[in-house]
Amino acid sequence: MTIRLATRFAPSPNGHLHPGHAFSALTAWDWACAHDARFIVRIEDTDRSRSREDFERAQLEDLAWLGLDWEQPVRRQSEHMTDYARGLDRLRDLGLVYPCFCTRKDIATAAQAPHGPEGIVYPGTCRPLSKDVRETKLATGTAFALRLDVARALDLAERLKGNRLTFTEEGCGPDGENGRLPVDPRPMGDPVLARKDGVIAYHLAVVMDDAAQGITHVIRGQDLFFATPLHRVLQVLLDLPEPTYLHHRLITDETGERMAKRRGSTTLRDMRADGVTPQDIRRMVGID
Ligand code: GLU
Repeated sequence: MTIRLATRFAPSPNGHLHPGHAFSALTAWDWACAHDARFIVRIEDTDRSRSREDFERAQLEDLAWLGLDWEQPVRRQSEHMTDYARGLDRLRDLGLVYPCFCTRKDIATAAQAPHGPEGIVYPGTCRPLSKDVRETKLATGTAFALRLDVARALDLAERLKGNRLTFTEEGCGPDGENGRLPVDPRPMGDPVLARKDGVIAYHLAVVMDDAAQGITHVIRGQDLFFATPLHRVLQVLLDLPEPTYLHHRLITDETGERMAKRRGSTTLRDMRADGVTPQDIRRMVGID
């Protein structure tokens, strides 16, 4: 049986889409059309405090305006929290998860913690806490996040595979063929899997969803390249299939900065109201 290829665009509904999103969505869409693959839109709304239904509606409307068409029903991460909790339990049972009681301030003031793509790299303060200290803190109701012991997770994943881990990046080989890149998520520090408020981290939800939705090709921006080694480790530990990755270039604005919601980049809605067409957007992001 041959498996039908599938890719996705996975926006977080915490703002309006800008041309950087359009580029990402169109790259995945064009790839799906060229490969007769399934195309999926997934709403990444685990963080309920930042997600809004009106943004979700507007994002889907903008994607349809761009000419995209996707499988129904659309999966919303907020509707699958018990699945993610099961994944978290499995990692816990493997002894790879520990409670972290640090506040943001504790982490910021910790000795010489370097900066990574997700802010200050967590220096591992709570990893060596004794069982007694942990239990006392838990018993007194100190708020805690759950973190993955990334070094042990990598070690176990490599033992399970019997080999050094790699991931496949489309087109990165010397002759434009797929290349295999080494996996080492340790520089990012021990990532949070569940926040203090119970919100499941993107890293866990995304690998579980890609597997649940049969995604064979993860097409997303280079800004998430740093996360792929961790995602590969989680896939091995959770016994999930391995997708191929394609991290595309990022669209910058006139100042040369990457477009981003939080930077207030011009939205597709505003451009549309100004008479810009989907074809103009394609030209603008260089995929005409
Ligand atoms: N939800 C993520 C974002 O909006 C994308 C995640 C992914 O493509 O893996 O940046």
